[in-house]
Amino acid sequence: MNTSLAANASSLPRLESDLYASVVDKDGRYGGVIADERWAQEIKRLARERNAVILAHNYQLPEIQDIADYTGDSLGLSRIAAETDADVIVFCGVHFMAETAKILSPEKTVLIPDARAGCSLADSITADELAEWKAENPDALVVSYVNTTADVKALTDICCTSSNAVDVVKSIPEDQEILFNPDQFLGAHVRRETGRDNIKVWAGECHVHANINGEELAHRAEENADSQLFIHPECGCANSAIYLAGEGTIEPERVQMLSTGEMLTEAQKLKENKPNGKVLVATEVGMLHQLRKAAPDVDFEPVNDRASCSYMKLITPAALLRCLVEGTDEVDVAPEVADKARASVERMIAIGNPGGGE
Ligand code: SF4
Repeated sequence: MNTSLAANASSLPRLESDLYASVVDKDGRYGGVIADERWAQEIKRLARERNAVILAHNYQLPEIQDIADYTGDSLGLSRIAAETDADVIVFCGVHFMAETAKILSPEKTVLIPDARAGCSLADSITADELAEWKAENPDALVVSYVNTTADVKALTDICCTSSNAVDVVKSIPEDQEILFNPDQFLGAHVRRETGRDNIKVWAGECHVHANINGEELAHRAEENADSQLFIHPECGCANSAIYLAGEGTIEPERVQMLSTGEMLTEAQKLKENKPNGKVLVATEVGMLHQLRKAAPDVDFEPVNDRASCSYMKLITPAALLRCLVEGTDEVDVAPEVADKARASVERMIAIGNPGGGE
């Protein structure tokens, strides 16, 4: 566990719940509670009592997605958090996402059901490492993916999402050197799309996406010759997909590089135009739940069914119950860090529609 993810003491009072007696912390995650109707009603009751809104990322467990008031990508959810009248934001996702919600809504109480939910990609670069990289490249401008900690965002010139990374880089003068972090696959995608050779890319990666490899993709695409392919640009197979399409192994019109939000939009289009088609999806498997709900007759299958983020899955039904009862784990960002981090996010939004990130 990243030490920066330690839970803060709650500023909220504890609420009563009979069901809470069953919650246990074992095997590194909260358990002991079944996500049945009684649980669902208790979660709704506690959320009402706290005037809390429950937000769930697309990679959450299906039962968490279904109980949430809103499900979506990290930035979309942070914007909902900023606009809601609720006093408390319960962010069912990983820690940097809850931090982003806090950065954009500093006056609200932001809770994450388990502060141990980190992110291997966000952990790929620390603020100290970025500061050192900047010192070695004093004239360069820093572009960071939203999957970064608040401390890294505070040292960033412009943030980006997977939807707008190319546009963000294109908005920067061509002769300006850029430090792109932390994801090497997204960085390679940006380099390829912009044709620029003055982008230095940090060698970070998400262990889940990196494990969806090109060999597996080629094999699955061959087995399912009529399928379309939805690929998240963070995937290890993203470069391979472009390469295979370029050399004709996979027809280019079958491949779409999409953020999670864009995948949903495409699923809705398929529902109208090609409801019985098959789509291979290269991203975390939690995304399939939303895609199948959006287009029930389309056959969505994972490229790799082992691509499950263990951090995301720390947010269990028991963890959500604990969160609402105890008012924990509270996410805080120091105001001076939040101000700088917010500026890097707002610069991105000023460039154009950020679409969705992860
Ligand atoms: S899937 Fe990867 S990038 Fe996303 S939260 Fe998990 S570890 Fe981080």
